[in-house]
Amino acid sequence: MKYAVDFKVINNIKVSENFKLSEFQCPCCYRAMIHPELLRRLQLVRTNFNSPIRVTSGYRCPLYNIRKEGAVHSKHLIGEEVDIIAIKDDLFAELVAVVEAIIPFGEHSANYTEQYIRLFLTDKEGVTE
Ligand SMILES: [Zn+2]
Repeated sequence: MKYAVDFKVINNIKVSENFKLSEFQCPCCYRAMIHPELLRRLQLVRTNFNSPIRVTSGYRCPLYNIRKEGAVHSKHLIGEEVDIIAIKDDLFAELVAVVEAIIPFGEHSANYTEQYIRLFLTDKEGVTE
């Protein structure tokens, strides 16, 4: 049996000031996981950036991660990594600067390519005691 999913409703839940759970869901199965500390940092970035941010990759289920040729131990699999861009293309460098000011890249919990910024928790940060 195939279930009918109401895509306008599923995960349409506000989880922080500017983000909904649906923004973190897996594109193939709509499951979602997001670590609260990662969400806290992302919201902090969004608040300071003061312009819309698009999550280009949030949670990935194991199947989707394989399809995307993601790392075997990708933190997308456990809700501890998000890839983001500025919705306004020309603000990408500004977004990088905001992230860098808030989450020093030296702490290895953020880095970026020409296309997107990765925010993630380090192995130590991800552990909840
Ligand atoms: Zn999936």
